[in-house]
Amino acid sequence: MPWGHSAKRFHKPRSCYIIQLMAEQLNEYNGKATMEKITSLAKRRGFVFQSSEIYGGQGGAWDYGPLGIELKNRIAGAWWKEMTRLNDDIVGLDSAILMHPRTWEASGHVENFTDPLVDCKKCKARFREDLIPAENLAARKCPDCGGEMTDTRKFNLMFKTHIGAAEDSASVIYLRPETAQGIYVNYKNIIQSNRMKIPFGIAQIGKAFRNEIVTKNFIFRTCEFEQLEMQFFVKPGSDENWFDEWRKRRWAYYEKMGVRMDRLRWHQHGSDELAHYAKDAYDIQYLFPMGWRELEGVHNRTDFDLKRHTEYSGKDMQYIDQDAGSERYIPYIIETSAGLTRTLLMVLCDAYDEEKVADKGNDDDWRTVLRFHPGLAPITVAVLPLMKKDGLAELAQDIRLELKDDFTADYDQGGAIGRRYRRQDEAGTPFCVTVDYQTKEDGTVTLRFRDSMEQVRIPKEELAARLRHEIKTYKRVS
Ligand code: ATP
Repeated sequence: MPWGHSAKRFHKPRSCYIIQLMAEQLNEYNGKATMEKITSLAKRRGFVFQSSEIYGGQGGAWDYGPLGIELKNRIAGAWWKEMTRLNDDIVGLDSAILMHPRTWEASGHVENFTDPLVDCKKCKARFREDLIPAENLAARKCPDCGGEMTDTRKFNLMFKTHIGAAEDSASVIYLRPETAQGIYVNYKNIIQSNRMKIPFGIAQIGKAFRNEIVTKNFIFRTCEFEQLEMQFFVKPGSDENWFDEWRKRRWAYYEKMGVRMDRLRWHQHGSDELAHYAKDAYDIQYLFPMGWRELEGVHNRTDFDLKRHTEYSGKDMQYIDQDAGSERYIPYIIETSAGLTRTLLMVLCDAYDEEKVADKGNDDDWRTVLRFHPGLAPITVAVLPLMKKDGLAELAQDIRLELKDDFTADYDQGGAIGRRYRRQDEAGTPFCVTVDYQTKEDGTVTLRFRDSMEQVRIPKEELAARLRHEIKTYKRVS
C-alpha cells in the first residue's frame, strides 16, 4: 500500500469524494446557502477577499477582511480555550513554519506527499486523478472537453524554496504542509521544560501550505491555510481508549459551538483508506453546500512519527516514566486535526439563513441573516441612535464606549433604523441596542435580538450583564 502524509486524502477511494447529497438535505440548502451566495456575502461584508484581486487574483489564497479576521480569531480562541485552558494536561506551542529539511524526510513528505496528476492535452485543464469520474479515467478523456488525457504522474504538494543566498540543494527548505511535525520535534523539550507527564497533549494553531492542484469551493481547499492541531501522547496500550475519548470530546465540542448537529457525521476510514501507520482514523464531515466533506480528522498515529524522528535525528525520543521505575517507551499519538479556515467556511455555511419577514411584495420582505453563536460573532453588539440629532448620537456613543471594553461593539447612525438592523443581521451581529428619546428621559434602551427580532426595554446599566447572560445561555432557534 502506498503511504503518504497525515493520513486520509492519499488513501481515500474515489467513492469518498463523489458523495451525493440526499434529496432532503439538498432541499434544505435550496434557495439558501449556496457557495456563490456565501462567497458574495463574504466579499460584500468584508469577511474574505480574493488575494491580489487587482492583479486578477491569486488562486488558492484568500485575504481575511475586518469581519473575517474577527471571526477567525474567535474560532481559534474558542478552540485554544477548549484545548489548553480547559485541559490541564494540554499545553500550547507555536513552532516555526520553516523546519530542518530532514524533518520532511523523516515524516515521509519528501518522498510521498503526492497527488496523482493528469492534464488534458487539448484544453490544458489539470485534475487530480482521484477526483475525476471513473468513466473518463478509463477512457483517458477530459471531463471538461473530452480531449485526450496525459498519463498520471506523481506531484509533490510541498512548496519548496531556498534559504540563504545560494540556490543549491544544500539550502533547500520547505513550507510546512502540516503543523504536527513541529509538535513532534518539540515533544521532549516540552516534557523537560514543563515537567509534563504522559498522558499529555500539545496544541498548536498555525499556517500550513500545500500546492493543491484543485482549489475550488472558495476557502474549502486552499494552498495557504491554517490548522488547529492537537497531538496527545499516551502510553502504548492505552491508545484505543484515548482515541475513543478524543472522538467523544471533539463531537461534544461542535455541539457546544452551536453547530447544527444534523449537518455533522462521522466517517471511519476503511482498511483501504488508512495510512499504513494509522491504527484507526475517523473524519468529522460537515454537510457543505457541495456535499459531505471532511472538517476534522481524529487519528491514532501510533508511534510512527516519533520512531522515524529517532531514526533520522539520532536522538532518543523515548519517554522515561519516573513513576514506573524509569520504564521507557515511545508514546503513541492521538491526533485531532482541523482546518481553521475550513472551520470558518463551515461556520459561515452553518450560520447562513434567508428569512421572510414581511409581505409587501418587494426585496425588503426578506432578510439575510448570519446566525452565528454570539460567542463567535465578529461584532457582538451594535449601538444605534434612532436619530443623529438631539443628543442621541452622543448618548449612543457613550453607551458604546462603556461596552467596548468587554465586547466588540459597533456603532451605526446611517440610514433608517430598519435598514441598519438588516445590515447587522447580515454581518451576524446577535444584539442591537437602540437609543431613542425615552433613553434621554429614563435611561432605558431597546435591546433587539437578531434571531427572533424581539425587542426588550432595559436600563442601560444592565446591558453588559444581560449580554453576558445571553451569550452564555444562547440556543439557536432555527
Ligand atoms: P482533504 O482530504 O480535505 O484534502 P486531508 O485529509 O489532506 O484533507 P489533513 O492532512 O488530515 O487533511 O489535514 C487536517 C485538516 O486540515 C483537514 O481536516 C482540513 O480541515 C484541513 N485542510 C487540509 N488541507 C487543506 C487545504 N488545502 N485547505 C484548507 N484546509 C485544509
